[in-house]
Amino acid sequence: MKTYQGIAVSSGITIGAAMVLDNGRCRINRRRIEDWDVAAEVISLDEAFNSVRKQLTENRDSVSRELGNEYGQIFEAHLMILADKRLRQELETYIREQNYSAEYAVNVVFEHHADLLRKLQSGDSLSERANDILDIEDQLLCVLMGVRKKSLSNLERPVIILAPSLTPSETANVDRDNVLGIGTETGGLGSHTAIVAAALQSPAILGIGQFLNEVNDGDIVIIDGKKGHIIVNPDVETITHYEREKEKAHELRKKLAEETRVPVRTIDGADIAIYGNIEFPYEAKSCMEHDAAGIGLYRTEFLYLAASPNSLPDEEVHFNAYKEVAETMKDRIITIRTFDLGADKLPNGVSFVNNAERNPFMGLRSIRLSLRNTSMFRKQLRAILRASVYGKFRIMFPLISNIVEFRQAKMIVNDVAEELYEAGIPYDSNIPLGIMVEVPSTVIMLSAFVREVDFFSIGTNDLCQYTLAVDRSNKDVCGLYNTDDPALVRLIQYAIRVADHYDKPISLCGQMSSNPIYTMLLLGLGLRHFSVSPYIIPEIKEICLKVSLAQCKEIVKKVFLMETSRDIRSFLKRETERLLNVDFDE
Ligand code: PEP
Ligand code: MG
Repeated sequence: MKTYQGIAVSSGITIGAAMVLDNGRCRINRRRIEDWDVAAEVISLDEAFNSVRKQLTENRDSVSRELGNEYGQIFEAHLMILADKRLRQELETYIREQNYSAEYAVNVVFEHHADLLRKLQSGDSLSERANDILDIEDQLLCVLMGVRKKSLSNLERPVIILAPSLTPSETANVDRDNVLGIGTETGGLGSHTAIVAAALQSPAILGIGQFLNEVNDGDIVIIDGKKGHIIVNPDVETITHYEREKEKAHELRKKLAEETRVPVRTIDGADIAIYGNIEFPYEAKSCMEHDAAGIGLYRTEFLYLAASPNSLPDEEVHFNAYKEVAETMKDRIITIRTFDLGADKLPNGVSFVNNAERNPFMGLRSIRLSLRNTSMFRKQLRAILRASVYGKFRIMFPLISNIVEFRQAKMIVNDVAEELYEAGIPYDSNIPLGIMVEVPSTVIMLSAFVREVDFFSIGTNDLCQYTLAVDRSNKDVCGLYNTDDPALVRLIQYAIRVADHYDKPISLCGQMSSNPIYTMLLLGLGLRHFSVSPYIIPEIKEICLKVSLAQCKEIVKKVFLMETSRDIRSFLKRETERLLNVDFDE
């Protein structure tokens, strides 16, 4: 049993078999087989040889056709290795006499031969030949272990996915019926991979550091998404302990969800609205189950990230997704954020997003990308406007950094609306238009926006990275990515004050509002509209129902005397534990 520590990004406990993904070479299960499996294992070996031979022959023929025979000959060396009878016999001996699995035998025999050639150290041609042997080993292992078939979107059984890293788009495509949990070596707290993992309601830990060479496919793994622990090959006692904890947490959560299905009001009578953040239409159901006031953020870029490679969602795909959400949410507010692509959110094989930018979070992302690709932007806007007759929609633009960007986006909305009007297609002509407040320049200039914008939503995930100059998805600087930094707390306070002064609705939809330790601080700063991950709604409501604004304002006063995020965080954690009568470290 071995325990690793990572960054907890999606809470809950999960226990299951590991599915280990590699970035490069195939992984080998060092397993021995039973006597009665020997014959089947030899057949698997033959099939793998045939499959690799077929692939090599096809490659040789197509390369010869297109580039000439001399290039095609490169594959001959590989085919000769496969035709080597002694090598083939050696493999079979390991399987028959030592009960090695086919992949284990391939690994042992091929590595041994490559090693011998390397040791001879007499020139380039032998080391080339060692590389050829390793190349064939890799191809055989890939076939034997079905690595290429390891499609995340179609898992054969429930598994815990362990990988060096996962992109938001890979995470968006996982088979949600079969993913029990996620653990990755890299990745950080504010990354979109973290956000999607939470949307899947799978316990997840990112930024674990190198640990995958210690885990095999099928190993039992426990993820403790609260403490950030991942336990590989736990003993029976540990499994029993976690099974009990999981059951207890499930019961508590159910009870809390029931108890908090009431109007949310602080004990001194302030009304609070808790909305849900969603990435996929099916999450609207979870918002309703937790009695959310509506949807405060629908990250529609996941329509692109979940699409198959090289295909973009057309107007109908957008329209159907929005209509589905409207049908679930009935008359509750639905805030559609227009697509926020770029930076770490890169759709597969789509050329308009440059995935080789040197500084992508500062580059052509988000609203900037929409304003450069107006035909795609217009398609989405048409779909939102068409769907607006089915629900209470609002449109929100991401990453607005100056008023001109908002005006340009609004002009395009008006233009699309006019087009619908002329075509006689109904839409809500009073649909509110708002912006995400996630760039410091926008906070500073907020009073200029109030005349033209209908509502604001503070995006602390980006506001934190742009204020503190910390890449939100970079594990190496995650110690600096603190949404409780005193500078950020002051920016949030300023934004809320300006919006209040001009009587403009303002909410906060960054991950900060989904962390219960910040609820009292945010209430004390004047926030009345929270938009949070749907599963956490009961916890946030519970705090709102148990405090008074007077208490929260006292907390703010104390926080403003503190100079470091560490002091602020431990103070807020203590205050929350006291209020809820719990110990978060337990
Ligand atoms: C944010 O930046 O806080 C936000 C909600 O947007 P996203 O996390 O999708 O960038
Ligand atoms: Mg953002």
